[in-house]
Amino acid sequence: MRLTNLCELPLPHLLAETDHEGAWIECNDLWRKYSGLSAANSLGMRWIEVIHHDDVSVVQRRWRTGIKTGAPFELTMRLRRASDSSYRWHVCHIVPLGDEQGDIPGWLVSFTDIHGGQTQQESDHSSVAKLRSEREVLATSNDYLLEILREYHETEVRLEKATEKLNQIVETQFHLSQAEIDMAAFMQLVTDKMLTLTPATGAVIELMEGDEMVYQAASGSAHQYKGLRLNLFSSLSGLCVIDRKALISEDTANDPRVNPEACKKVGAASMVVTPLYEEGNVIGVLKIISDTPHAFDDEDLKTLEMMAGLIGSAIGRKIRMQEKEDLLAAKSLTLMQLEQEVAQRKQIEEQLKASEMRTRRIIESSHEAFIAMNSSGFITDWNPKAEETFGWTATEAIGRKLSELIIPSGLRERHELGMRKFIETGQGIVLGKRLELLALNIKGEKIPVEITISAISAQEQWQFCAFLHDISERKQTEQKLRHLAQYDSLTSLPNRALFYDRLNQALARSHRNQTLFALMYLDIDHFKSINDTHGHGVGDELLSAFSSRIRLIIRESDTLARLGGDEFVIIAENISVQGDAEHIAQKILWAMKQAFQLNELSIQVGTSIGVALPPPHAVNADDLVKMADKALYSAKAAGRNTYRVYKETNQAAEKPFR
Ligand code: GH3
Ligand code: MG
Repeated sequence: MRLTNLCELPLPHLLAETDHEGAWIECNDLWRKYSGLSAANSLGMRWIEVIHHDDVSVVQRRWRTGIKTGAPFELTMRLRRASDSSYRWHVCHIVPLGDEQGDIPGWLVSFTDIHGGQTQQESDHSSVAKLRSEREVLATSNDYLLEILREYHETEVRLEKATEKLNQIVETQFHLSQAEIDMAAFMQLVTDKMLTLTPATGAVIELMEGDEMVYQAASGSAHQYKGLRLNLFSSLSGLCVIDRKALISEDTANDPRVNPEACKKVGAASMVVTPLYEEGNVIGVLKIISDTPHAFDDEDLKTLEMMAGLIGSAIGRKIRMQEKEDLLAAKSLTLMQLEQEVAQRKQIEEQLKASEMRTRRIIESSHEAFIAMNSSGFITDWNPKAEETFGWTATEAIGRKLSELIIPSGLRERHELGMRKFIETGQGIVLGKRLELLALNIKGEKIPVEITISAISAQEQWQFCAFLHDISERKQTEQKLRHLAQYDSLTSLPNRALFYDRLNQALARSHRNQTLFALMYLDIDHFKSINDTHGHGVGDELLSAFSSRIRLIIRESDTLARLGGDEFVIIAENISVQGDAEHIAQKILWAMKQAFQLNELSIQVGTSIGVALPPPHAVNADDLVKMADKALYSAKAAGRNTYRVYKETNQAAEKPFR
């Protein structure tokens, strides 16, 4: 039904057509007459100006409630009568004006004056009707007042609750701004707070880690599951992250989207999850759970979303801050370690430098010649003592090939070979040992040196170092000592010790080569009397002259030794038969015929000779000497200045010499 011309309708009531807001579209003449407003001045919300100002807000509120029902309803209000400017109570009947589609585009409003007795219209009502009407009005007013009061109370409670929530959210926000609160504590605070802001029995913050949702903070029934990991694709939280919107599960037992095991664990019969955003990216969810189904309403969802909106970026900020702090801590740690390392290295370098200087000083002032050589054989170091030993200055020597500079040509090949072998195998027979070698000095002279060579690996390169010293003097001394130990100082002939050496060698040779040799034992006759007559010095001179003369008689290869006093022995090798030995004996006796000229003295001596030839059976040196001695004794016994050859029968054969 649509009123096209309301003005035409001859109804006794004030009439108007309104939209949903109560704004007038049309009104009748009766209204215009009553209110004194023109049609134009009545349209829209202007008509409200004729309502008593105490009734306006109630009328407006009741209007909004009434039209929600979509059914006829009534309002009561005082309207100003233009004729006497008085306000009169009216019942206002509001009827929906539905169209064919069932929509309600407008409402028909009619006013009935219920003020009573003072108008023409009212006088038309019966007193009974009037009373009923008044009672109805009173009842309606009463109901209305009660409703207002209830609404007021509800609003007050809601306001109180909202204020409380806001306070808590503000309080949470305040905590967010506390820089010192760490991530974990902060998230815990949020989940704890959710338990007081909503009817939740548990609350969780889950953050995404790869394909998993991780419980970063948990309160209430979920408290013990902090750290729990759930697959992103098998939980309502994961779905919330993927769909990027809040999700409610009214009854998890009958919701295929939830992870039933996890719900059971944390005691979630119903839950609400909302995404946590950080710079437009979903980083996780804020979730509230309850142990009863259908525990949450829209209000809780709003609270959750509000909190999620607040904390999402804060969590992101905290994560970044934490990362930065960690990075900074790590950096400062690395920096500290680096500084420590640098300090240590510096210290080591200084120690190294000091040690190098010390080594250098030791090398420079060393009594040993120090020579260093690289793996290619070139000299790299040459200390002052090396200069002194070899004659080359450091400048001349460094950079030259060691083998060419100081190694005698005959040893060069061995030296190069040894070095190559060491570089290939790491093993060198000469390394670390004290060796005596011959080296060349600047004059090309071979000098004996004692040398210790070591190899040092530095920067993957071998470096050879050698400490050496000239041992010429020592060698000479050794030679002297050796000579003293083996030679008779008076005659320079081999002494007893060397004689026995040679005798043993002759025995071995003879045995090995099946050759013959003779041992001849000589003792000057009556030597004591020369000492006695001419003195010990002359005696010495005679001993010396005697040995020289014998030396001339025998072969170079034969050994003439002095056993002591006036006793001499000859090892005459390479003889074929006994006669050869006898021949030597005869030559000696012959030589004694001539007197020795000792300064002004002319002394003639004879000598007795005992000859022993090694028997066919084995004989040792001592026994052979004893044999010769026995033969000598025989010669002495035979009157001296003769020789005897030892016979096995223990009878020395007498061979007088004339
Ligand atoms: P014989 O004919 O029996 O050999 O009588 P001899 O006087 O030579 O006596 P014998 O061989 O027993 O004595 C050797 C002497 O030589 C005894 C010692 O005084 C002397 N004599 C030993 N050693 C040396 C020495 O180094 N120099 C000198 N001048 N005389 C020495
Ligand atoms: Mg003698």
